[in-house]
Amino acid sequence: MSRSICVACAGRIVLQSREASVRRLTNQLSSNRTRYPAMYRLISGLSLCASCLEKLPVIGAAICWQCGREQETEELCQDCHKLTEETLQSNRSLLRYNQWGKDLLSMYKYRGEERLAVLYAKLLAIAVLRYHQVTSFDCIAPVPLHDQRLQERGFNQVDLLAGRLGAEMGVPVRALLHRTKRTAKLSQQTGRSAREESMDGAFSWAGERLGQAKAGSYRILLLDDIYTTGSTLRSCARTIREHAGSLCDIYSVTIYR
Ligand SMILES: [Zn+2]
Ligand SMILES: [Zn+2]
Repeated sequence: MSRSICVACAGRIVLQSREASVRRLTNQLSSNRTRYPAMYRLISGLSLCASCLEKLPVIGAAICWQCGREQETEELCQDCHKLTEETLQSNRSLLRYNQWGKDLLSMYKYRGEERLAVLYAKLLAIAVLRYHQVTSFDCIAPVPLHDQRLQERGFNQVDLLAGRLGAEMGVPVRALLHRTKRTAKLSQQTGRSAREESMDGAFSWAGERLGQAKAGSYRILLLDDIYTTGSTLRSCARTIREHAGSLCDIYSVTIYR
């Protein structure tokens, strides 16, 4: 491991020189002492060198409690104030989406490098551990790609992450949804309401049975790579709610916000 290579910059990882960064980050992200060992294990397992670890744009302590956006104070952000429904209980993300993240994500999405899948699944596990009781989820449901896009790309990058995250958390992955509408890329859509409209009814129930809930309600963790306007995740949550009824709580986690 001491001679392994950083997946972000291809520099050499020298364990001793990054130990201080690992500890600093672990302290920052563990809300209490009982979480520290699991958090330390995840962070020290990241295949990033000391300087890339330092560069990780981790979202700070004050966030919008609905969408997980970093802000000055802990209250609803402007966008979430306008929401008229709360089908999605909350979204949490680990990183701000800056240029570094953009480059790394496109490397993953279009080349599908296995090593980046490992990194991203660990980053997602860190986000879940930071904000939730990991063991309380009944299943992880990845946001599906449209069949046509799946064919073009050859793989669904979110499915790949879901499998690894599920193994990391010990939670089963269920393909609850099917994408019925092929929507334009986010960059080609203008305006928030256009995005919301185009995502409406974009998913259908894939027919998976939910099974037995651990506690009173069935807790579902939706998974996507990025939360931009949240319209994709809200559309997924609506479809799940329509089929699974009110006895389920739907949360989401993404790498970037
Ligand atoms: Zn690096
Ligand atoms: Zn918000």
